[in-house]
Amino acid sequence: MKVLMHMCCAPCSVYPVQVMKEKGIEIEGLFFNPNIHPIEEFEKRKENVEKLADIEDFFVHYLTDFQEEKWQQIEASDQQRCKMCYEMRLKRTFEYGKEHGFDAVTTSLLASPYQKHELIANIGNEYSKLYDLPFYYEDFRVGYREGIKEAKELDIYCQRYCGCILSLKERINELKQEI
Ligand code: SF4
Repeated sequence: MKVLMHMCCAPCSVYPVQVMKEKGIEIEGLFFNPNIHPIEEFEKRKENVEKLADIEDFFVHYLTDFQEEKWQQIEASDQQRCKMCYEMRLKRTFEYGKEHGFDAVTTSLLASPYQKHELIANIGNEYSKLYDLPFYYEDFRVGYREGIKEAKELDIYCQRYCGCILSLKERINELKQEI
């Protein structure tokens, strides 16, 4: 079984990559995250995905356009922004998986307890029907802490905000309140 795993970032991918490899699943990654802001952060997360791929010895496909137009759409929407963000990334992953003959698709977004897990699973299942391609669902959150600990030991960058400009602003406000 050859699975295309959408990789939101390296630290969230550590546990899913390891657990799937242990199960004998052949994985390839797809880095497609136009939501990440600013461009320097985008590059940093990409570089750390490359680092993890080297360590774990698997291939990653990179779709690296920094899509300002889509980005603005996400910023413009408040309540729905995460839904739009998940849909944008998973839709492209399913398209890519279909085009390149993968047996299934999954995402490292399923690893983070900070994401809207059920929403991601629902979107994955919807696209699975639409593209006639299985969605590999597993609740990777069980290994999130272990994965982050290992990422730090491997000197992999662990970001402190989700990715978009609004999540960055929210994080800055939280830090201001802590001072
Ligand atoms: S908070 Fe995270 S999931 Fe939600 S829109 Fe921003 S980057 Fe995307």
